[in-house]
Amino acid sequence: MENHTSNFIKDIMIKDLESGKHNKIITRFPPEPNGYLHIGHAKSIVLNFSLADEFNGETNLRFDDTNPLKEDIEYVNSIKEDVKWLGYEWDNLCFASDYFEEMYRRAVLLIKKGLAYVDDLSADEIREYRGTLTEPGKNSPYRDRTVEENLDLFERMRAGEFGNGEKVLRAKIDMASPNINLRDPVIYRISHTTHHNTGDKWCIYPMYTFAHPLEDAIEGVTHSICTIEFEDQRPFYNWVIEHCEMENKPQQIEFGRLNLTNTVTSKRKLKQLVDEKIVDGWDDPRMPTISGMRRRGFTPESIRNFIQETAVTKHNATVDVQMLEHFVREDLKLKAPRTMGVINPLKVVITNYPEGQIELLDAENNPENPEMGVRKIPFSREIYIERDDFMENPPKKYFRLFPGNEVRLKHAYFIKCEEVIKDADGNVIELRCTYDPETKSGTGFTGRKVKGTIHWVEATHAVPAEFRLYEPLILDESADDQDEEKSFLDMINPHSLEVLQGFVEPNMKESMPHDKFQFFRHGYFNVDPKHTTVDKLVFNRIVSLKSSFKL
Ligand code: ATP
Ligand code: MG
Repeated sequence: MENHTSNFIKDIMIKDLESGKHNKIITRFPPEPNGYLHIGHAKSIVLNFSLADEFNGETNLRFDDTNPLKEDIEYVNSIKEDVKWLGYEWDNLCFASDYFEEMYRRAVLLIKKGLAYVDDLSADEIREYRGTLTEPGKNSPYRDRTVEENLDLFERMRAGEFGNGEKVLRAKIDMASPNINLRDPVIYRISHTTHHNTGDKWCIYPMYTFAHPLEDAIEGVTHSICTIEFEDQRPFYNWVIEHCEMENKPQQIEFGRLNLTNTVTSKRKLKQLVDEKIVDGWDDPRMPTISGMRRRGFTPESIRNFIQETAVTKHNATVDVQMLEHFVREDLKLKAPRTMGVINPLKVVITNYPEGQIELLDAENNPENPEMGVRKIPFSREIYIERDDFMENPPKKYFRLFPGNEVRLKHAYFIKCEEVIKDADGNVIELRCTYDPETKSGTGFTGRKVKGTIHWVEATHAVPAEFRLYEPLILDESADDQDEEKSFLDMINPHSLEVLQGFVEPNMKESMPHDKFQFFRHGYFNVDPKHTTVDKLVFNRIVSLKSSFKL
């Protein structure tokens, strides 16, 4: 799973190996277990694992679990499953929370060096004192506490003597720094919350910006790859490494986030979709989560190939979701068997076909991959065709079925529409057709030609199936760039899911969850693992055959 195209991060690694700065590349993928992974995370996963792989290095899966309020073991498990499913094996499984003791000692070291102090200001006051981009901040009145007092207070914070928010530990840097992130950032807070890993052992937790560089250094990470919004944090990252006297000195390198059109990829927003039951869980096939994409039918190869194709740059980029769809079509083209399914059925009786007769016809499983062989499909007097493939009063250039017209049934015969049967309300409920036995597919018949070929399923052996067709969940193309004022919930596509009851070929009966097929003319489908039962097959449309949707 290498990526042979070059990028600026790879160039840095090559240089560091050549200069002897490092003799081994160590990267990590550091998710916070506060939600399921999404397609944006896949970019970070592919980048970290494939870069290390290329230099025979190592990659850790590290849970950045420093905020117990939002974290949960359910997320830890789903993240592990998703990374594995994408095709990656981590060298070490790490939890930031396993380093809490060491982080505490490093904070004490900062206090002893006069580089950290306990502050009693409230969160609001701290914000007020911080200043703005144009105005310097002000020193907290608690900034000049003695080392002894700070050591005592910090120990008592740990011992649980104070309530949430009563005190924080701050780095003592410079309240007038042009970089706001260096204006005495908070490095520890009090939170009397049970942690998924450490239970009730701690009631103070390190802040992300303090914890992250320590985690990287503890693990010997050489290149700490993160998204571009952390660029302004880099000076503090380096400050922590230096003043905490970490032996390993990881280098933070930022790259641009991957966004997709018509997609939100923020865990907070995705969680909202789940919590407000707008979707059927984190793995809803419309979700851009790895688990949702898996359930929809995307393959790990298609996701990896897609990511490898997106550039590694310093700017956030929004990529057309149709590019992702292109890669799954490419991946399934030769792998997925072709079959016929009728998703909106209309019955056809072939009046001149002998009653009670069933014949078995040959159908290629994949004309582009002959190795996939041939199957037998039944044909008889009664079949289903697609409702859309018939029009009573067709416009010009309609080549499918209409009264008096002849079409080819894929893998079978020509049929001609002789009669239209309607119910009392005038709805078409059945067609009467005749077939021409001379036109059997594959017998070399070269007589007259027809312009339309339609698909069908023999009616008496057909297997009922549910088809779920999807459109983008979000109507706005640049959903992820919206300012937070405009709720993305106002942009939800009311037609993102359409459920239809139809039929598939009898040989599909044994299909298993996650089997993938190309239904003739309809696109690629995946057997849904959640709703499929022994009695009912449910197919998720992964993509149609051509990029088609226009909103
Ligand atoms: P979200 O905004 O969805 O909550 P996050 O950055 O807060 O994402 P983390 O769990 O911290 O989520 O992410 C783990 C890693 O994945 C980080 O290194 C982060 O930079 C990276 N990552 C997250 N989203 C994207 C994205 N859209 N494109 C590229 N990398 C991403
Ligand atoms: Mg984050």
